[in-house]
Amino acid sequence: MKEGFDTTDCFLVDGKLALPYTYFAGRVGSKFLTTIRDEKKIMGIKCNQCNKVFVPPRQTCDVCMEDIRDNWVDVQNTGEVTNFTVVRYDDKHLPKKAPYVLAMIKLEGADTSIVHVVEGIDVDKAKIGMKVQAVFAEETTSTLMDIDHFAPA
Ligand SMILES: [Zn+2]
Repeated sequence: MKEGFDTTDCFLVDGKLALPYTYFAGRVGSKFLTTIRDEKKIMGIKCNQCNKVFVPPRQTCDVCMEDIRDNWVDVQNTGEVTNFTVVRYDDKHLPKKAPYVLAMIKLEGADTSIVHVVEGIDVDKAKIGMKVQAVFAEETTSTLMDIDHFAPA
């Protein structure tokens, strides 16, 4: 207890929440995820006015507000780390066992970055600008973790 903080008349109730849920990934998000799952292929959406490719894809260009939902383009499974952090604690909701590198990765052919795990390197050797390649999961979970991780290319 914090010193000087009187808890004698506080009534504390212990509880537990379990919260299973389902949500629609959206039309664009659904195609992005199912293409990764079924074809082991990563796709983006291009704004033809701004000449910008979004990965993860989006329905509307955030620059010109054009509806771009049907402008699918392939991007490469290889890319470059544009930023990263090292996750150094374990928790049930995290995708990997700590420590691991969580990076922003700009795939070749894309103008925006996706966030994913980089494995296969010492976490203290991660660098901005390092080239990485998607490693697809052998068993699908129908989530973004169908890309199991990225590895040095
Ligand atoms: Zn645009």
